[in-house]
Amino acid sequence: MRFLRGYNDAVVLGLARSGTVTRGELAERSGLTPQAVSKVVGRLVADGLLVESGTRNVGVGKPRTLLKLVAGSRFALGAQVERGELRVVLTDLAGDVLDRAVTPLPADPDPAALVGELVRLVAPMRTDRLLGVGVGFVGPLDHRTGTATALGERPDVPLRDLAERALGLPVVVDKDTTTAIVAESWRRGEELRDAVLVLVGAGIGVGLLLGGRVHRGARTNAGEFGHTTAQLDGPPCACGRSGCVAAVHDRAARAGDLAAATSVVGRAVADLVRLLDVDHVVLAGRAVLAAPEAYLAGVRARMRLPVDVGITPLADDVVAAGAAMLVLSEFYGRPR
Ligand SMILES: [Zn+2]
Repeated sequence: MRFLRGYNDAVVLGLARSGTVTRGELAERSGLTPQAVSKVVGRLVADGLLVESGTRNVGVGKPRTLLKLVAGSRFALGAQVERGELRVVLTDLAGDVLDRAVTPLPADPDPAALVGELVRLVAPMRTDRLLGVGVGFVGPLDHRTGTATALGERPDVPLRDLAERALGLPVVVDKDTTTAIVAESWRRGEELRDAVLVLVGAGIGVGLLLGGRVHRGARTNAGEFGHTTAQLDGPPCACGRSGCVAAVHDRAARAGDLAAATSVVGRAVADLVRLLDVDHVVLAGRAVLAAPEAYLAGVRARMRLPVDVGITPLADDVVAAGAAMLVLSEFYGRPR
């Protein structure tokens, strides 16, 4: 919570995100006293984050003033560093994507070159009232220090510090699967409490939302789902073992056997759902977007529990948009 201006401000803004709201409703839903709500609202209106927007009649008594979020009052940038590609999006305070830019990256980018490309893509999207930049990265990394350890053979690249210096903006770095589940959590609010986001791209990973909180694990690298063993005598995997979900999936996909590729993902996701007892599965990533119906069918067919299985509507932007929403959530978090 490096940017957060106050817990109460975050709680009130989080509640105002879902629609117009009165001061009384804010007090009721936040558990804050009416006096505290008045103070916070006064501050947020003065800063332009909330605006009074008409009144609502409540039967007896005078009509209540409605408050709403000013989506264009603050902005955040989000980036996705993927093998071979860098994507940057601009979002407003409501989390809507307003602009995007994409550029190819070398397979093993030099950290300085990567940061240089980031600065170049960000430049035309710079605006007043920009809160910061989030970066979603394939990992492994340490979210707490913003250090990446997957840039080729180089050990411990302080990606956050390099980017902050080059951009002159606050930066947060997180695993791509984590930013992707942040995007879904941000968009769907309280409806989503126990969910997995399955990202099928260059590898296969999951973002975890458990009990309404993003789960990062002890080393902030939770979600290496693609290296779960799917087949004991299966094909060798890049991780040095064999028969991993990702290796079995990729072999089937390369052979053009989409049914086999989606089936291995479906079976593994069904195991994960049983393990964690989540009720939402969100599918994302290049492979899924290339054949959405096949992946939906492959996963749904293996669910034995009532689980909502869908595809992220943020499509190719989900990781980058989630990285921007991570910045927004550090600023005006989600009430727990
Ligand atoms: Zn593996």
